[in-house]
Amino acid sequence: MNKLIIAATVMAASSPLFAQKASAAPEGFDYTVDRFADIEVLRYQVPDFENLSLNQKLFVYYLTEAALQGRDILFDQNGRYNLELRSLLEAIYKATPEAQRDSADFKAFEKYLKQVWFGNGVHHHYSMDKFTPEFSQQFFDAQVAALPEADKPADIATLRRLIFDPAFMSKRVNQADGVDLITTSACNLYGPGVTQAEVEDFYAKLKDPDDATPISYGLNSRLVKDADGSLREDVYKEGGLYSPAIEAIVANLKLAAQYAETPAQREVINSLITFYQTGDLKEFDRYSILWAEDTDPQVDFINGFIESYGDPLGMRGSWESIVNFKNIEASARTEALSNNAQWFEDHSPVASQFKKPEVKGVSAKVITAAILAGDSYPSTPIGINLPNANWIRAAHGSKSVTIENITQAYDEASHGNGFNEEFVIDEPTRQLLDKYLFITDNLHTDLHECLGHGSGRLLPGVDPDALKAHGSTLEETRADLFALYYLADPKLIELGLLDNPEAYKAEYYKYMLNGLMTQLMRIEPGKDVEEAHMRNRKLIAEWALEHGADQGVVELVKINGKTYVKINDYDALRGLFGELLAEIQRIKSEGDYEAGRALVEKYAVKVDPQLHQEVLDRYATLDIAPYRGFVNPVYTLVTDADGNPVDVTISYNEDYVPQMLRYSATYSPLTK
Ligand code: ZN
Repeated sequence: MNKLIIAATVMAASSPLFAQKASAAPEGFDYTVDRFADIEVLRYQVPDFENLSLNQKLFVYYLTEAALQGRDILFDQNGRYNLELRSLLEAIYKATPEAQRDSADFKAFEKYLKQVWFGNGVHHHYSMDKFTPEFSQQFFDAQVAALPEADKPADIATLRRLIFDPAFMSKRVNQADGVDLITTSACNLYGPGVTQAEVEDFYAKLKDPDDATPISYGLNSRLVKDADGSLREDVYKEGGLYSPAIEAIVANLKLAAQYAETPAQREVINSLITFYQTGDLKEFDRYSILWAEDTDPQVDFINGFIESYGDPLGMRGSWESIVNFKNIEASARTEALSNNAQWFEDHSPVASQFKKPEVKGVSAKVITAAILAGDSYPSTPIGINLPNANWIRAAHGSKSVTIENITQAYDEASHGNGFNEEFVIDEPTRQLLDKYLFITDNLHTDLHECLGHGSGRLLPGVDPDALKAHGSTLEETRADLFALYYLADPKLIELGLLDNPEAYKAEYYKYMLNGLMTQLMRIEPGKDVEEAHMRNRKLIAEWALEHGADQGVVELVKINGKTYVKINDYDALRGLFGELLAEIQRIKSEGDYEAGRALVEKYAVKVDPQLHQEVLDRYATLDIAPYRGFVNPVYTLVTDADGNPVDVTISYNEDYVPQMLRYSATYSPLTK
């Protein structure tokens, strides 16, 4: 529930204040790798990797290997034909001779394959809509016919339908109100014929409302229907579903464990291995607790079935991994926040019965990502707060991270793209953004992750899943509001995190602009807003616009026929954020599904078609991709003549297509 996805577009920003900013790019470092459809692929640096000890480098190396072995799992979770489709498309791609690669059909085919790689399947990673092929069926049929027999899939008719029939498996995760969310979603987390009512009934019977330490029901399984109509969990584990991939992950975790930085960290890895071997969700909780409490080592990792955005009911975890190490210098910033977590909790505008009397173990750090994998690749979050289980967070704390080498890459790659000139209302506001957006955006992420998600409490007896399909949106809303509210607090100046009481206005302006207007460039004309983070931003911005209308706090104004966001009273806007935070926290604490649903439906979903078209038209004049993602660096193990590891080197020269083809060839335990 707690992943922060990058805001629509990180605007150009530079901040002399931001001393923690990672070391500047080496001369000639080219961030842009590829560009297709609505995607720009970047590369990121891993500053200070060379300065890790040999032991740490080897630890990182085997953890990255464990990360890459899970790629096939996510493809399969996202759709039951995705792995077959990927293999077929890659076979066609590789079989096409250079001389035939100039045709319009082949270029369209290549674009489609790049999209499938980026989406980890046949659906867009963000809109969840199926990709539209721009090559002809005749071209496709001819390419398939020319393949060697061994490369031809058994069920070509279904794959053909998957590519060309827009109505077949059209949406990966459907969030539309009032329909069966399971039967209308194409994700592969539920077997054929399973209905939403059956799923809800299945888990209602399993759940004990008095259980204070519930497992994360459904996190690591597919719920399938047997021939006799009964439901059964097909568990992801060694010897179960996805066994070959899980065995490969475990084998590398075992190699990594030898290089763990402390005995406690070795125990964390061993507990994860036990979970993968047994599939027992109690073991996952044991692992999550050990992991949350293991805050000493510099190198850390996420590896497993974690976030549940891929499930329309928010239970099943998509496989992902991020390997990282602490950016010690920059972490001073998040430590200042987490050391004062109780102060922030005590002073929030939330009603006292919904506050945590004692905020536990908010451990926050700034990290450097070393590899992105599974659900965090190629599109990746900029901040993460885990574990997700509420009771573990309450009793054992959580780890919150800001991934600064990723925000740095976004920032560097955005310079001079014309966005601010087109959408920001005037020069003084643009200067404010130039000066303070990078630092306040990072601080927003820090506050969201290390304080926002960890704040507040449920009243006794309230089901953590009470907000159902709107749970993710409202949780992100809560964390964002907490961050927005405190970004304007003098406490941040007192803590030395900002040097100017006006700085927060940069983030406020960008947030309102994004929520009211610019994030719409990611939505196709006529469609609703669906993704949880986009809904959350729209909810906050639209609510504040409406509730501040009488006082003219924020308005949409027309200048030369173009719409701009105009903020007249930043202080009052902060008050509105506080007011909404109090209400969202009440909804969460009381499990008030109806109130939550009403807010989401009223403010977060429907798009003004005229404004939408205007945003799309203005965007089209700029050459900016709405979505961005990353290729990973390449790590190479260096051994001496006796085969002993002596170093791990890093290189940044792999492009998008070669990386995807190499991953499919080298890390594909489910397709061999
Ligand atoms: Zn979040």
